[in-house]
Amino acid sequence: MTPRPLRVAIVGSGPGGFYAAEALLASEAPRVEVDMIEALPAPFGLVRYGVAPDHPKIKTIIARYEKTAEHASFAFLGNTEVGRDLSVDELRRFYDAVVFASGAQTDRRLGIPGEDLPGSYTATEFVAWYNGHPAYQDRVFDLSCDCAVVIGQGNVAVDVARILAKTTDELAQTDITAQALDVLAESKLREIRMVGRRGPVQAAFTPVELKELGELADADVVVDARDLELNDASRAEIEVLKWRDARKNVDILREFAARELAGKSRRLVIPFFRSPKEFRGHELVLEHNALSGEAGAQKAVGTGVLETVACGALFRSVGYRGIPIAGVPFDERAGIIPNVEGRVVQNGAPVAGLYVVGWIKRGPSGVIGTNKPDASETVKHLLADAPSLAAAPEPSREAVLELLASRGVRVVSYAQWRAIDAAEVARGAAAGKPREKFVDVDEMLSAAGGPNAAPQKRGPTVGGCK
Ligand SMILES: Cc1cc2nc3c(=O)[nH]c(=O)nc-3n(C[C@H](O)[C@H](O)[C@H](O)COP(=O)(O)OP(=O)(O)OC[C@H]3O[C@@H](n4cnc5c(N)ncnc54)[C@H](O)[C@@H]3O)c2cc1C
Repeated sequence: MTPRPLRVAIVGSGPGGFYAAEALLASEAPRVEVDMIEALPAPFGLVRYGVAPDHPKIKTIIARYEKTAEHASFAFLGNTEVGRDLSVDELRRFYDAVVFASGAQTDRRLGIPGEDLPGSYTATEFVAWYNGHPAYQDRVFDLSCDCAVVIGQGNVAVDVARILAKTTDELAQTDITAQALDVLAESKLREIRMVGRRGPVQAAFTPVELKELGELADADVVVDARDLELNDASRAEIEVLKWRDARKNVDILREFAARELAGKSRRLVIPFFRSPKEFRGHELVLEHNALSGEAGAQKAVGTGVLETVACGALFRSVGYRGIPIAGVPFDERAGIIPNVEGRVVQNGAPVAGLYVVGWIKRGPSGVIGTNKPDASETVKHLLADAPSLAAAPEPSREAVLELLASRGVRVVSYAQWRAIDAAEVARGAAAGKPREKFVDVDEMLSAAGGPNAAPQKRGPTVGGCK
């Protein structure tokens, strides 16, 4: 008798999940069947809900994930959240192994007074809102003030600053939601500051993204040349440690600093060496910093010099972090599922049958492509462990679908996602946009069609409904 394929559940359908699926489905011995379980009706995680709408080329990676989704041994179980609709114990009943690819769903906090005042927002919620994530559509961003401050200088901060600084004409033909475009069209912002606590050499943004800030239709980019005077350790980071991006960034920033203002309607200012101390709803107190430490390990140290800047809208972009899933170990400090090369561990010992990939494995770092070798490493270990994994007692996709149906969960298949996708593309065509996203789960379920296109009626918790 041919042994049955190994049954693997992947929780999450972002790049981590798709690269893990691709690697698993390429295995011949053992053969693998993959069920990808995704909380939202739409796949692709941050490629759909994070990558900026004005960066459409980045999203072409989806074509690769679609190839994986076409594999005969792949199934997509969309609109199904692990921890809400299915417990981890239940997954173990149906699958020989589970790979968590749930990403980093929340933000790190600044830890300053006033952080939760009206007018203070996280990059996570702003980005998810303008990209049409259904869970963030109730957020209200008040852009009726003159000045916004973005805290952080990574590529997400650059996205936030750029979207705030762009004109509606620059965004109109992107897949930004119509609702977000309407709010941005009413923006009264005149100045956007993107503030970093260390210097230009230590900033996390990459040169391509930085350069784009100098090419905005109606916003002048402003850099203070004094921030570009490098200390010895920063020069060593460029010249001895060969930080190539830092060298390019400094060159770009020098070119920005040398520019005359062109008198555009907005200014995008990039101050360095400042940390937020307090948000007061309409102004932000910043402390000036100096760098201290060896090349490669320089830290920002407060100088005690304070500066108060006008700020009616504060965007905190200091990193994403994962959230726990009930029944799976979680490292609160790092915001990840603890693991050794992708094998989930608890108190240092592997938890048989549980694996992890992507941002929930290593934290929010790297680009989309970084998740490929990361997933390969995990899959290599999973396949090596396969002979010793406890076999699932009910290794059947039908059994999972029956359980979900009994709970009133309207599972979205990949074919149904395609119907949603086609409907979005058709909606966008009229406005010259690549798509007009549905921002409401029930609308997505209606567009998905199928035997029960009515909005779902489901109970609230795992095991809580009959
Ligand atoms: C704002 C932003 C912009 C970015 N722009 C770029 C860019 O331009 N270029 C680039 O290369 N990289 C970019 N990145 C980085 C890139 O998006 C990440 O490297 C990548 O998405 C991480 O993949 P992941 O699979 O770990 O997580 P994600 O992409 O976040 O996917 C996680 C998925 O898991 C699902 N999920 C979570 N919990 C559950 C659950 N309990 N049950 C079921 N499903 C669940 C989520 O709904 C989501 O679909 C950007 C990141 C951000 C935040």
